[in-house]
Amino acid sequence: MGIAENIKQNLKVKIQNNLDRNYIRKTLRIVGKRPVLAAYGATFASKSDKYLNIATIKSVSRAYNPKNTVAYGSLFLPYEMFHALDLAPFLPEVMGGFTGGMGIADRTLKEASSRWYTPDLCTFHRSASGAMELDIFPIPNFLICSNLACDAAQKTFYMDAKKFGLENRYYLIDAPYEKDESSIKYLAAQLEAVSADICRKSGKKLDLGKFKKSIRLSNEFRQWALKASDIRKELLMYPRNFDGLSFILPFHGLAGTKDAVDVYKNMYFELSGFLKKQKSGSFKDTRSRWRPGGGRIIGDNNNGGGSNSDNKSSGKVKKILWLHLKPYYNNNIFNLLENNNYKVVFEEISHVYWPELDPDKPFVSLAIKMLSHPLNGSVQNRVNAILKMAKDFNVDGVIMFAHWGCRHSNGGARIIKDSLKDQDIPMLLLDGDCLNKNNSSEGQMLTRLQGFMEIVDARFQ
Ligand code: SF4
Repeated sequence: MGIAENIKQNLKVKIQNNLDRNYIRKTLRIVGKRPVLAAYGATFASKSDKYLNIATIKSVSRAYNPKNTVAYGSLFLPYEMFHALDLAPFLPEVMGGFTGGMGIADRTLKEASSRWYTPDLCTFHRSASGAMELDIFPIPNFLICSNLACDAAQKTFYMDAKKFGLENRYYLIDAPYEKDESSIKYLAAQLEAVSADICRKSGKKLDLGKFKKSIRLSNEFRQWALKASDIRKELLMYPRNFDGLSFILPFHGLAGTKDAVDVYKNMYFELSGFLKKQKSGSFKDTRSRWRPGGGRIIGDNNNGGGSNSDNKSSGKVKKILWLHLKPYYNNNIFNLLENNNYKVVFEEISHVYWPELDPDKPFVSLAIKMLSHPLNGSVQNRVNAILKMAKDFNVDGVIMFAHWGCRHSNGGARIIKDSLKDQDIPMLLLDGDCLNKNNSSEGQMLTRLQGFMEIVDARFQ
């Protein structure tokens, strides 16, 4: 275990043993100090991972600081608005994901069950609700959610608002199904009205200059994210600990900040350095057993998923597009892929789906951003986006993690699989739960993954 992992592990154990809002606040106050962050940052093997961790700690620390105005937000909102309004965003469903990584999801989920939260509610929201009931999360001043993609936030956020007597500071933004002129107008008017109401209740004036600044930063982050994605079209060798499925907080919650720009700018430079090394053939990575030019890869017999996981077809790296999210507890899925020469070259959640925003039309731009999300409207929007990603990244296969309780994502799975099949791209639908390991059978997942790899491998023989 490296120094960064050791520090993370210590922090995790301390929080597990002191599951309390004030303790977390105090810990974050110490960890979030500039010199501590700089020292912590120096321990990371990968720049992308370092900037991700630093930006995450800064963002969560802000939300736990009682001096700030904290706003809960659901995932697909335009966070440029939060930053322009000087709100410290806190994303309960993303933090629900953190409960898995922190090893506390068992307790938060148990708490939610004991309070009668239905087990068919997605565990990101269920775990977040359990954390709320356990008084782990920061106290909000405002709660803003939308019905875009997910129907869970509007209900769980309302319960949170009731808990704190904040029903008049709860906003539900209605994202229309179609993306046309009248929808854009309707949504933009809501974003403006919510912003104006928050300003009124905070005793401030709506400052359009701040919106301009936030939107310019968002455009800058978007440019770097696009450039990083372009590099990944060719990249097969990644920095140690790089995990595209962990960047959901900066991609959404930090849009409109310099931190998001820093994360993606550094990601771009780091990945382009790796691509240069990959092209020159000079890359040496002790972790990966991929060898440029081929070579048989030895399977990991400790993966628990069967006796023979060797890739027998060739040394060619198989490129995978990953759909939806992943299990955030310890698991062997990615080891099995890695040890068999499979590389996740892109993730659906890293897809820049919106056009450049206009700083002079902040609310219209942000409405367009929301309506451009492939999960909004017809499933065909998502199908089109996935087919384009599969083509752009020239993938050999697609894996969709079918997270328990996510009706919107899983509901389109069959249509997506059939559409990919029409393009001769195999897809594996991997059933499981991103947070609740007791609701996923790892052995079954690994067996299915092996079966899928055999299908893909057979195409290269
Ligand atoms: S996984 Fe699906 S149901 Fe759960 S928070 Fe995300 S979009 Fe909503």
